[in-house]
Amino acid sequence: MTNTLFDALLAAGRRDLSRRFALLPDGRDYSYEAVEAVSARFANVLTKLGLQPGDRVAVQVEKSIEALMLYLGTVRAGGVFLPLNTAYTPAEVEYFLTDAKPRVFVCDPKKRDQLAPIAEAAGATIETLGVWASEGQSAGSLSDKALAASNRFATVERGPEDLAAILYTSGTTGRSKGAMLTHANLLSNAEVLKETWRFTEDDVLLHALPIFHTHGLFVASNTLLVAGGAMIFLPKFDVDEVFRHLGQATSMMGVPTFYTRLLADERLSRETAGHIRLFTSGSAPLLAETHRAFEARTGQRILERYGMTETNMNTSNPYDGERRAGTVGFPLPGVSLRIADPETGAELPVGEIGMIEVKGPNVFSGYWQMPEKTASEFRKDGFFITGDLGLIDADGYVSIVGRGKDLVITGGFNVYPKEVELAIDELPGVVESAVIGVPHKDFGEGVVGCVVAKEPLEEEAVIGALKDKLARFKQPKRIVFVDELPRNTMGKVQKNILRERFAGLLS
Ligand code: AMP
Repeated sequence: MTNTLFDALLAAGRRDLSRRFALLPDGRDYSYEAVEAVSARFANVLTKLGLQPGDRVAVQVEKSIEALMLYLGTVRAGGVFLPLNTAYTPAEVEYFLTDAKPRVFVCDPKKRDQLAPIAEAAGATIETLGVWASEGQSAGSLSDKALAASNRFATVERGPEDLAAILYTSGTTGRSKGAMLTHANLLSNAEVLKETWRFTEDDVLLHALPIFHTHGLFVASNTLLVAGGAMIFLPKFDVDEVFRHLGQATSMMGVPTFYTRLLADERLSRETAGHIRLFTSGSAPLLAETHRAFEARTGQRILERYGMTETNMNTSNPYDGERRAGTVGFPLPGVSLRIADPETGAELPVGEIGMIEVKGPNVFSGYWQMPEKTASEFRKDGFFITGDLGLIDADGYVSIVGRGKDLVITGGFNVYPKEVELAIDELPGVVESAVIGVPHKDFGEGVVGCVVAKEPLEEEAVIGALKDKLARFKQPKRIVFVDELPRNTMGKVQKNILRERFAGLLS
């Protein structure tokens, strides 16, 4: 039986199962043999829970090697993996479960009581998974079942066009959309990144990204698996831990915040970074200044790339050629990228700013149960309209100049203003609001809410009232009160004016 993604992800590792796949935070080595066995255990448990090919497995758990094995086990059992940001509140989780109707929902043991009624209402079986404890200690119902299950499993047949994952992206209209990613989407991108970035079985990737997002789950983990390499699997980005391990790693993938934090630490030098052959950055714009400062301190030029949940990776600066600060490089092999007039879709000449549109095996197959939304985001000739504004220069380098959809990216996480605005507008005393991102030295951008009120309101009270409604990273860091929102003649709020006015608020 063939399973397009799982077979390819394990192919290199299976050549020598005794090799290391991961170094864990407690110092343990995790072999490819363990990857084979634990993914089989999870696949057995899921199958026993009634998982049929195509069924979703929604997962909101802390980062652990077992959570990564649960992803592989789901794909192996023919399921569709649906990871959720650990910061999502129960109200947000309820939306995802109701929308995606997963067969199984796996959560943190600590959240079980709170989330069980929500899972039940959505028709999902609830299971728990904590960090797998070593000495026979329970780490949740799913790990108990996995430990008792067989470590052999006949992988379920799945083809290139079958779904392997659904990743939700926030929607500008306030409604999140589930991006459907096929086996072929994920595999093609992993293979292209392995070649482009020269990953081999000798590589050791320092993995400090979350695994509920495309960057940590697919860009990092799939690429290393396909290469048969290893990862130093850290629970999160902790500067001390990163410095402790830099000398053992050959590569690190990061969001810009990682690099500004490293730069703020006096330990960063040619020596401490000297074992790394490749630093990559993505998920948000890397300031040219950060790129230059990093090179001055370490002698290494960060390789910036560009992608998104719906498309996987689209472009990358070259491995050998010039890595140009402030650009995201060239389209990856197999990816067609053009700059189009946002209104008409007509292709624009070199150097002109327009909508970035992409087509290729990396591009998702549509939004879950939103055929109209899907249709409206694709051109007739199959190009996906990314929502990012950019240009291609005379040398072919792509630059992103802005986000058409006013997305705020804070610490690598996306916040769609509309969602926060809807929550603010519901509060008593609020007339309307506009949410913007303003420069923040640690997070890149921070969320700020500009509020028009009909009665005197306190900033703290507004921020406090949003705590239970929104994940922490979406909550405004500041609320400012304005007499009215600036609007253009078409009635659209001019967020650029607000951004300029409050640019210094968080710095
Ligand atoms: P996500 O779906 O969470 O991966 O977010 C995708 C969005 O992040 C893209 O549409 C871009 O707006 C932004 N993004 C990703 N990589 C970069 C980059 N290197 N430079 C600027 N923006 C980026």
